[in-house]
Amino acid sequence: GTNRPSDLIIFGGTGDLAMRMLFPSLYFLDSDGHLADDVRIIGAARSDLDRDGFLETVHERLKSHIAADYYDEALWQRFAKRIDYCPVDAVEGTGFDSLAKAVRLDEGGELVCYFSTAPRFYGDICTHLKAHGLAGKNTRVVLEKPIGHDLLSCRAVNDAVGAVFAEDRIYRIDHYLGKETVQNLLALRFANSLFEPLWNANGIEQVQITISETVGVEGRWSYYNDSGALRDMLQNHMLQLLCLVAMEPPNTLDADAVRDEKLKVLRSLRPITKQENTLKSVAGQYTAGAVGGTAVPGYLDEAQEESRTETFVALRADIDNWRWRGVPFYLRTGKRLPYRYSEIFIQFKGVPHSIFPEESNLTLDSNKLVIRLQPEENIKLCVMNKVPGLGRDGMKLQEVSLDLSMTKEARTRRRRIAYERLLLDVLNANSTLFVRRDETEAAWAWVDGISKGWRDLDLKPKPYSAGTWGPAASVALTERYGHSWHD
Ligand code: NAD
Repeated sequence: GTNRPSDLIIFGGTGDLAMRMLFPSLYFLDSDGHLADDVRIIGAARSDLDRDGFLETVHERLKSHIAADYYDEALWQRFAKRIDYCPVDAVEGTGFDSLAKAVRLDEGGELVCYFSTAPRFYGDICTHLKAHGLAGKNTRVVLEKPIGHDLLSCRAVNDAVGAVFAEDRIYRIDHYLGKETVQNLLALRFANSLFEPLWNANGIEQVQITISETVGVEGRWSYYNDSGALRDMLQNHMLQLLCLVAMEPPNTLDADAVRDEKLKVLRSLRPITKQENTLKSVAGQYTAGAVGGTAVPGYLDEAQEESRTETFVALRADIDNWRWRGVPFYLRTGKRLPYRYSEIFIQFKGVPHSIFPEESNLTLDSNKLVIRLQPEENIKLCVMNKVPGLGRDGMKLQEVSLDLSMTKEARTRRRRIAYERLLLDVLNANSTLFVRRDETEAAWAWVDGISKGWRDLDLKPKPYSAGTWGPAASVALTERYGHSWHD
């Protein structure tokens, strides 16, 4: 990074995200020697705390969120020296004069403002930053999701922030892009000559992206109910993953080179029309059931009102370009599903002709690349292999999986929080793993078409019992095109 003093202000610094993700990530970055000595962190939030009071909370929460093995008192003491607190009100603008005194822009320093509040405050925060001389060319801002709940509201947030900050100083977080395995996908695709020739409609049969959660709405009913699976998960994380699988090779790893290619993918997504809506998309809502042996209430049982918010969505996306003509990208995410995992599943085309006799007791399985993002991170390539030995009945085959992901060293190392990579990148002004305005808007434009279809057709989400893989219609969706979900 730079050798200039950097101040990181975390607006919403007392909130859940800051305590669970941002401070632990910063602590690890500091522990691993990645934070320059001159980086300071200022929590800014509505609570009327002093520095000691804030530090006490951060300390307590840090110890509860990171594994005891990784906590070190001496490292904490060093980390704590970087931390300060300033009460602010984003609406009233109180506290910004103190912030202006605290930061070191006038010493040639840099300022990073992380917006970890509700998005409705982003515009106000920008206005106050500007009014207090904190929005110059040495300031960068980080925006947490969600950026709006549809194209129009997304534009409104982008306009409000964009009125104060140029696009190249705005960093939109999608923490899935901070995952080691997601970056490894780029290495796999573009640092090997093996895959790219097959990486198209001739070589690939289908792609599936699943983000499966076991949790329900966890006390965030009213927040979630305004959002739903399509907006909360699919519009951002899943479409970003789809972009990294589907994009053309960028000519460098520079931010705009990569983001230009992702944008082309988003703009090539074939709109799901009202006519095709029920063929290509399924919305679901969980009813009472059991997850992992524990009985749980249904979505509406947790509510005070009727609701058509979907807690599950499955769909078929098509990318209208030469590379992907006809290849289905199935996307599926939901709450209260049987297991928690996130995965990208790529099935290659089968061999054109099998030379192995029927009796060799198998169907020749086609090759698959399985990229796991959660709970563990790994990449596996499934290939056919001979069962060793002299079987009387001749040649027998089996599928074996090769672990492509990690060296032994990587496997034994602490698994990083996705935010570590991203926070470090913002401090270093590297925006490759952040989402550009036009990407968020293209993604909303496509997703809006799907939700509009649901509204126009007056569709209710289909019920599914908690602890199952969503409504039966989700199984039917892939089978309609001759595929089935990889469970
Ligand atoms: P939270 O409700 O726990 O915290 C909100 C923070 O905003 C608090 O620090 C509060 O003091 C501050 N705040 C509220 N009103 C304010 C005002 N008028 N002026 C200044 N500060 C004010 O919220 P959270 O869960 O930490 O979420 C923060 C952001 O991150 C949101 O945009 C959310 O959508 C996003 N996000 C959160 C999570 C998560 O796991 N918590 C996940 C993804 C995205």
